[in-house]
Order: sequence, then C-alpha cells, then structure tokens
Amino acid sequence: MPVIKDTGARATFPPFGEEHEELRETVTRFVSKEIAPNVDGWEDAREFPRELYGRCAELGFLGLKFPEELGGQGGTHLHDAVWVEELARSGGSGGVAAGLNAHTSIAMPPIFNFGTEEQKQRWLVPGIAGEKIGALGITEPGAGSDVAGISTFARKVDGGYVVNGSKTFITNGVRADFLVCAVKTTKEGGHGGISFLVLEREMPGYEVAQKLEKMGWHSSDTGELAFTDVEVPEENLLGEENGGFKLIMANFAWERLLMAIGAVGAMQRLIEISVNYSLEREAFGRPIGKFQATRHHIAEMATKAEASRAITYNSLRLFHEGHNCIKEVTMAKLVTQRAVLEIADQALQIHGGYGYMKEYGIERAVRDARLGPIGGGTDEVMKEILGKLMGL
Ligand SMILES: Cc1cc2nc3c(=O)[nH]c(=O)nc-3n(C[C@H](O)[C@H](O)[C@H](O)COP(=O)(O)OP(=O)(O)OC[C@H]3O[C@@H](n4cnc5c(N)ncnc54)[C@H](O)[C@@H]3O)c2cc1C
Repeated sequence: MPVIKDTGARATFPPFGEEHEELRETVTRFVSKEIAPNVDGWEDAREFPRELYGRCAELGFLGLKFPEELGGQGGTHLHDAVWVEELARSGGSGGVAAGLNAHTSIAMPPIFNFGTEEQKQRWLVPGIAGEKIGALGITEPGAGSDVAGISTFARKVDGGYVVNGSKTFITNGVRADFLVCAVKTTKEGGHGGISFLVLEREMPGYEVAQKLEKMGWHSSDTGELAFTDVEVPEENLLGEENGGFKLIMANFAWERLLMAIGAVGAMQRLIEISVNYSLEREAFGRPIGKFQATRHHIAEMATKAEASRAITYNSLRLFHEGHNCIKEVTMAKLVTQRAVLEIADQALQIHGGYGYMKEYGIERAVRDARLGPIGGGTDEVMKEILGKLMGL
C-alpha cells in the first residue's frame, strides 16, 4: 500500500477539538468494520437492516447532540458533524447515511426543538434508542421547492384533526414508525397556514403507497405515503397551529449544513481512493499518477475539497456558536453538492473502465452525489435565497 503524504485531510481543524477527534476515530472504526463491508449487499437489497439503528443507538451515535436525560450523549452539533462526515468518508454509501441521518437529523430535531416533554418521551426517547424510526414529510407530488404549495389538509375536529393527502420522496418513508408531517391547517394563508403533526404508521388510513425506485441512495428506502381520513389527536400537534413554516426553516439550516458536511466526507474518500489507484494502476509502463493529466485531476479535486471544507467548517462554527448563518449555510450547500459531483466524476475518469464497474464504489458515488443539487432544496432555490439576502 503506497504511503499517502497529504490528500487534504487534517487531524484537527477548527471547530473540532481533541474530544471530537477521539469520536472521529471511534466512528471510523465502527463504520469501516460494520457498515462499509456490507454496503454492496444492502445496496442490492435496496435497504439496510433495521437493526443497524439499534446498533448505532447502542454505540450512542443516534443521540450525540441530544441531552442525557432523553437517552442522548449530551453533546452538540459538532459531535453530530463528526458522525456525519465520517459516515460519508468511511461508509461510501449515500443511502446508508441518508437512512440514518434522516432519522437523527431531520425527523428528530423538530421534536426536540418544538415538542412538549410528553412528545419527547413518546418519540424522541425511543428514537434515540433506535426502537422507533422517524421520517420528515414535507414534499408532495404537487409541491417540492414550493413548500407553501402543499395541499395535504388537516381538518380540525373535536379533539384533533382529520388528515387527507399524500407525501412523496420521503426518506425512511417505508419503515418509519412516526412521520413529522407538514400539513395545511387553513385553506388559505400560504406559509402562514402550515402546521406539523406527528403521524404514526399504525393510524387507520395511513398507508405506504409505494417504495420508490431511484438513481442512487439505493440502500435507503424512499416512500410515497397516502393519508385517507387519518384521525390525529391534538396531542400530536408539534409546535403552534399555523406556525409550521418556522419549524421548516429551522430544520432546513441543519439539514443543508449536514448535506455539506457529508459531501466533504465523501470528497475526502474519493480523493484517497483516487490517489491510491493512480499510484497502483499502470499504463504505458508507468503509474497513471505520473501523467500530468492525472495529477491535475487530483490537484483540482483536492482544491475543490479544501474550499468545500473551509466554507462548510466555517458555517458549522457559526451555526454552533448560534449566529445567524443562513447565507453561509446556503452557500456551503450550494458549492459542496456540485463539487462532490464533479469530484466523483473526476474519480471515475481516473479509474477508467474500473470506475464504471461496481468494484471501487465510484459509480455509486456519482449516482449518490447527483441528488445533492436537488435534495434539501435545489441549487436554484439556494441561489434565490442568496439573491434575496443580498437585497435583489
Ligand atoms: C431520494 C430523495 C430523498 C428525499 N427525501 C425527502 C424527505 O425525507 N422528506 C421530504 O420532505 N422531501 C424529501 N425529498 C424531496 C426533496 O427535498 C425535493 O425533491 C426537492 O425539494 C425538490 O423538489 P421537487 O423534486 O418537487 O422539484 P421541483 O420543485 O419541481 O423543482 C424542479 C426544478 O424546477 C426548477 N425550479 C423550481 N423552483 C425554482 C425556483 N424558485 N427558481 C428557479 N428554478 C426553480 C429547478 O430547476 C428545479 O430543479 C427527497 C427527494 C429525493 C429525490
């Protein structure tokens, strides 16, 4: 195995300290041993085993940023960031990361941030323990980027709501025990008429309409859900009635930041694999890494990764310190999701025909990375946000 002198990784890099680096080592060991060797099989099966949540919970990874009294580790978003980055770097599967992180980082945080004590006990405690799996349901067949355009409607009745409508592209949608679900609670009102209800899979009228086939993220389940006269008690209302848009916005910041962090981890993996390959693979009697073209590919990849890491870690630091960092997070999401796709494509080029085969996981990286500029808000939406922030 050739010695890699410097592929852009840093042992420590602000905002991380020693304790985060120790966690990083633990996560890397776990992911390399218990996830990476199984990824090919899980991708073929189109899901990873549900037991993986239990195993991750046992090791404390599902509750890194949640308080100990709820069964968490009492850490911060920085601990979660380490987990997300290393899962991407050592795991090499967007699908496994999506399935685990949709639960920990987009479904559970609204319950933690907006839920009552009773709601935390009902969904967060078993969620952190890996006993109940969560999903976040915002997107609908008729409304993706235009969040205010959702039409799933919760009619107010005595003691609760009756919900009718559908959701699509929901990560963990097939296996989720609870769905943190955006609904309209007024016929008019746009942003102002959105509320969040926690729907549970055993509620009559709640149906998993189909498991979707997709280009990448194969080992994560992505579901389409249908609701027909689902009776939801009022104690399942999360936050204030008609105050759901605030919840969506609060969630987007962390979701987008974690997508950027995951991309940085994936970039690092692709660079390491490509450097190794270019030192081993020979053409015309010498390692392909000795061709200027290959060196330039790697140099470009490393530069994109370094720029991505810098903007992402800076956003993470601001987020962790409680600053308003919508601009930085939006930029980090925008730049990293394109960068990882370009880097995956360059890695594929370096691997030639072998990159196109399953063996090195490069073709999967390209497919998985393609979702980045779409999921969690498209590139176009990111640019709209930035334009508006600049007064345009
Ligand atoms: C695998 C996968 C997993 C997902 N997981 C979840 C999940 O767990 N929960 C969830 O709620 N959602 C989830 N999503 C949905 C995801 O967030 C949406 O796909 C995304 O928000 C875009 O919405 P859309 O697909 O309806 O695209 P649309 O909104 O229809 O946009 C399509 C295209 O139209 C153009 N466009 C749209 N709006 C604008 C604009 N304002 N300015 C300029 N151009 C514009 C852009 O080119 C854009 O790419 C997932 C999606 C996928 C594919």
